[in-house]
Amino acid sequence: MLDLKTLDIWFVTGSQHLYGEETLRQVAEHARTIAGALDTAEKIPVHVVFKPVVKTPDEIYHLCQAANTDPNCIGIVAWMHTFSPAKMWIRGLQSLQKPLCHLHTQFNRDIPWSNIDMDFMNLNQSAHGDREFGFMASRLRMNRKVVVGHWQDPAVQTRLEVWARAAAARHDWQGARFARFGDNMRQVAVTEGDKVEAEIKFGYSVNGYGVGDLTKSMQAVSDAAIDQIIAEYEAAYQLADSLRKGGAAHAALREAARIEIGLRHFLEAGGFKGYTNTFEDLHGMAQLPGIATQRLMAEGYGFGAEGDWKTAALVRAAKVMAAGLPGGNSFMEDYTYHFDPQNSLVLGAHMLEICPSIASGKPACEVHPLGIGGKADPVRLVFDAPGGPALNASMIDMGNRFRLLINEVEAVAPVEKLPKLPVARVLWKPLPDLNTACAAWIYAGGAHHTVFSQNLTTEHFEDFADMFGIELTVIDSKTDLRQFRSDLRLGEVYYK
Ligand code: MN
Repeated sequence: MLDLKTLDIWFVTGSQHLYGEETLRQVAEHARTIAGALDTAEKIPVHVVFKPVVKTPDEIYHLCQAANTDPNCIGIVAWMHTFSPAKMWIRGLQSLQKPLCHLHTQFNRDIPWSNIDMDFMNLNQSAHGDREFGFMASRLRMNRKVVVGHWQDPAVQTRLEVWARAAAARHDWQGARFARFGDNMRQVAVTEGDKVEAEIKFGYSVNGYGVGDLTKSMQAVSDAAIDQIIAEYEAAYQLADSLRKGGAAHAALREAARIEIGLRHFLEAGGFKGYTNTFEDLHGMAQLPGIATQRLMAEGYGFGAEGDWKTAALVRAAKVMAAGLPGGNSFMEDYTYHFDPQNSLVLGAHMLEICPSIASGKPACEVHPLGIGGKADPVRLVFDAPGGPALNASMIDMGNRFRLLINEVEAVAPVEKLPKLPVARVLWKPLPDLNTACAAWIYAGGAHHTVFSQNLTTEHFEDFADMFGIELTVIDSKTDLRQFRSDLRLGEVYYK
C-alpha cells in the first residue's frame, strides 16, 4: 500500500557564472554523480532527481516554483559545490513551500595533497560556499535540516534517509482526509483540538461521518467476501476453537469480517488515510471494530480511538515514514505500571486496537467480552511484542500551538505470561527511568494515546516537526527534569 519510490527529492546544486564554462561543466558532472549515487543507494527510499545547476536568481526562483507545484517532489536537497552568492537565493527560498535539506558535502572526500592546485580550489568550494548559503537560510529563519559529511559515508546517507522519510510523511498529509465516526468520547479533553488549525498547519482534513453511513457499507457485504476474509484469518492467525466453523462463536467472527470489509470499502470509496471511532457511538454495529481496525492499521491506515484524530493522523504519518522498514508502528495507550524499583515497566495496550505490525510471532485471534460499550463481544488479535529500542510519540494541542512529544523507551519481551489478559500488549522501560519520564510527560501535557514505534527514531520526528515549524519536546536518556521544565517554559515564549 505504501511505496515511497513514487516520490522524488530534487538534488539542487548552486553555483554562479564567475568560473567559466569548463568549471560549470565539472560542477554539473559531479552533481549528477552524487545525485545518481544517492538515487541508487539502498538506504534512500525515494528517487533522487538531478536538477541542472542553478547560477542566477531567476534560475533559482523558477526551480523553487517548479518544486512547489510538482506533485511528486517532496523536498529539495541543496548543495553549493562552488560559491553561490546567496542574495541570488533570497527570492527563491522565500517562495519555497517544500522541505529543504542542506547537504554540506564535497565531491572529493580527501584533499589531493600532491596535486592540489588553483583549478581544484576554484571548483571545490563547498566549505565556504555552503556557509554563504547557510547564512541566507538562517537570515530568512528557515527551518531546514543540515547534513554534514561525505556523500558516500553511510552515516550521511542515513541522515538523508531519515529526512526523506519525514518529507514523505509530510507530503502524504497534504490534502489527506481522515474520517471521524461519531465524535469524541464524551468529556475527554486531550483527544479534542482545533481541526481548522491542524488543516492550516499540517494540510490534512478531519471530517465527521454518521455511523449509519458506515453500517450501510457493512450491510452491503456479501457472504462470499466474508468467506474470503475468514480464510485469510485462518491462514494468518491462531484461531480460537470457538471461532472456527461450527464453533460457538463462529458467527462473531463472520460479523467481525463483515465490519472489516465494510470499513475498508468506506475508506477506499472516500479516499481516506485513517479514521477514528468511539465505543460510545456504535449504532447499528454489533461489535466495536477490533480485528478490523488492527488489520487496517497493518495495511497503513491511521487510527485513533475515542475520536482521537490527532493520533490517527500521527499513526498514518508513522506508517509512511517507516514504509519498507522491518518492525512496526501502532496506536498505543499507556495502560498500567509495574512500580517494582528493580524493574519498573509500563504495560501498553488498548481495549482492542493494537496493530499486529509490532507483534512477535503469530497473533492469536480470540473473542472476549469488552466490559464497556454495551455491544456484543468483539473479535480481536492478541499478541506480545518483542524487546528492543522503541519510542512513543504524542501530538497535543496546547491551545496556541501543537506540540509533538517523544519518549524514547526500551521495549521488553514479556517477563511473565499474561494468560487472562485478552488484548495485545507491549512492555517497555521509558528513558531515562519510569518516574522521570512520566513526570516529564505529564508536565508536557502528553496524551495517554500515542504512536508506538519500533523502527522510527527521534530524528524522524525531529525532522517531521521542523517541516511544520511545530514544537518538539523529547524525553530520552539525558532528560533532566529541571532542565526539561525550563525548556517547556522557553517553548511557551518561542512558539507564542
Ligand atoms: Mn483510549
